[in-house]
Amino acid sequence: MARYAGPVCRLCRREGVKLFLKADRCFTPKCAIDKRNTPPGARRNRPPRQRSTNYAMQLREKQKIRRTYGLMEKQFRRHYREAERQIGETGVNLLLLLECRLDNVVFRMGFASSRRQARQLVNHGHFLVNGKKLDVPSASLNIGDEISIRVKSRKLDVIQVSQERASDIGRPSWVEVQPEKLVGKIVAVPERENIDVVVNEQLIVEYYSR
Ligand code: SF4
Repeated sequence: MARYAGPVCRLCRREGVKLFLKADRCFTPKCAIDKRNTPPGARRNRPPRQRSTNYAMQLREKQKIRRTYGLMEKQFRRHYREAERQIGETGVNLLLLLECRLDNVVFRMGFASSRRQARQLVNHGHFLVNGKKLDVPSASLNIGDEISIRVKSRKLDVIQVSQERASDIGRPSWVEVQPEKLVGKIVAVPERENIDVVVNEQLIVEYYSR
């Protein structure tokens, strides 16, 4: 599956907010947004930015969430169409679908320091879901699903470091992790208020409803 392989801080600068795509660096003064929060590209000869139209606001909101979860447009639109088919608010459904992706759950459980890293670890086949190897980052998980780490992957530095970091900063209430066994379980459906992504999901619905 295609993925964005360019510089990620550029994406934050484009959206003008921290998307937290780089783990620890995002919390240091080296963060590009803290150093210079300007859009990427040569600006010297450009006219001043015009007032945002509704369309521009909807587009930016959609791009922000798509980039936060590290998806290409086609994958993101597929999640949106699925959210539309479900009962309830489409915007909230979309966020829940994104939260329940395997790569995001691995990140939320603290087995990786960023979604990007989680995706790579999943692709490399380091995780078991309910005892079976699963290397599809987009796989959708449900309550009761258990994620563990393959025996030969347990000593990987990235997983150890991420676990220590997660123990310090905490994990969301909808997952339970036994750090000593490197096992995690989904114990509840994530609620909108438990999702710490700052986004107005209604604007995304408006964007796709044009
Ligand atoms: Fe974004 Fe993190 Fe880069 Fe800062 S360090 S610009 S939050 S990816």
